[in-house]
Amino acid sequence: MCGVFGAYSPKGNAVLEEVYLGLYALQHRGQESTGIAWLGENGRIASIRGNGLVHAALDQGELALLPASCAIGHVRYSTSGGSDLGNAQPLISTTSRGSVAVAHNGNLTNAEGLKTLLESRGAIFQSTTDTEVILHLVAHQPHKRPIDALVDSLTRLVGAYSLTLIIDGRLVAVRDPWGFRPLVLGRREDVWYVSSESCALDLVGATTIRDIEPGEVVVLGPEGPRSLRIPLDAKTRRLCSFEFVYFARPDSVIEGKSVYEVRKELGRRLARRGPCTGADFVSGMPDSGTIAAMGYAQESNLSHELSVVRNRYVGRTFIEPTQRVRELGVRIKLNPITRVLSGKSVVVVDDSIVRGTTCQRMIAMIKSAGASAVHMRVSSPPVRFPCYYGIDTPTRVELAAARMNIQQLGKEVGADSLEYLSEEDLVEAIGLGESAVCTACFSGKYLEEGGDVQDVTL
Ligand code: SF4
Repeated sequence: MCGVFGAYSPKGNAVLEEVYLGLYALQHRGQESTGIAWLGENGRIASIRGNGLVHAALDQGELALLPASCAIGHVRYSTSGGSDLGNAQPLISTTSRGSVAVAHNGNLTNAEGLKTLLESRGAIFQSTTDTEVILHLVAHQPHKRPIDALVDSLTRLVGAYSLTLIIDGRLVAVRDPWGFRPLVLGRREDVWYVSSESCALDLVGATTIRDIEPGEVVVLGPEGPRSLRIPLDAKTRRLCSFEFVYFARPDSVIEGKSVYEVRKELGRRLARRGPCTGADFVSGMPDSGTIAAMGYAQESNLSHELSVVRNRYVGRTFIEPTQRVRELGVRIKLNPITRVLSGKSVVVVDDSIVRGTTCQRMIAMIKSAGASAVHMRVSSPPVRFPCYYGIDTPTRVELAAARMNIQQLGKEVGADSLEYLSEEDLVEAIGLGESAVCTACFSGKYLEEGGDVQDVTL
């Protein structure tokens, strides 16, 4: 999962600090690396990229002094290619028709095939990311105007891509025809913004204008905004349902649906699946299960307590995985409140169980703090299939719910009971309809198997 952001001022106002702030608000979508690219006065694209969090990789003060009025940015969590700096985005290439920069959220499922084809025609790849395929496809059509070459290139892509680009001196935003990842358009005074989530528009004081439509290409240039279509006939829509379960920030709104409200409804529906008799209170795993736990508590007339505290300053980049750290395991991040848990039967709500090891350690930790029983409740259906659309999930054999049934899994993680949300409840809680959302990691119904993908040629 990654986050993209872009800003363009037709009046020439400086926007680099805006992009910095936008990325700051999207930090939850990627912490491995970050970068900003901008259009310089000479028409060339410049960039800064670095490893780690936004504030560590970029210098806000320096960016604020630069006069660029068209810029894009990216926060990365690697799902395709490694996490070295060579894969940090935005990626930039120079073509015979000018420079192009691209920042990508999602994963192309046909990137390998396209890469082989492009290499056979002389393309030399600089990174191991799937995103670079887009730049080479554009560069391979020098006879076309850059935006036309881009739109043509997009028809050859399969999978998830929400993009911000600088191309032909303009800011361009693209959402794949299936709409896997969110992308919104905003505005403040003369400045246009594009963002993975609306929470970043809130931070820069922009008004959310609308979601970029699946299959839409929005071009923001001196002639005003233009909306083009990717000429592909997508039969289904595939907005990632996990954005609502976990990825997106709760203060974001996606396709008119408040992530907070959906998450709370997931908890309510989970409670309706079978009340947990004898439980003293409900507790959400911070922060992923907190909102669903509030919904669960509300629906089941139980109190909602904070029983585990999360150290907010522990990030994956901050701590070395030494033997001592491995021994401490989940306690590095989470610590139970013994006075709350001692002698109590508790309903613990979390967003998902992936490998099962974190859940197992967490339940052991809560029991070691004196809880008499832990009833595990999961606010999504069992994750039985890997995601190929931009989320870093393990292979099928590593997924706990693919290896065993729910009863066995409950035993394995040490829960006194285990209950999941149904796929039907998930889709209904989101409220966009079954044909509008992707549920492949729960159902195994992938885009490629639904007859929705045309043959791709160059
Ligand atoms: S497979 Fe799962 S995580 Fe991946 S896009 Fe679909 S719903 Fe989202």
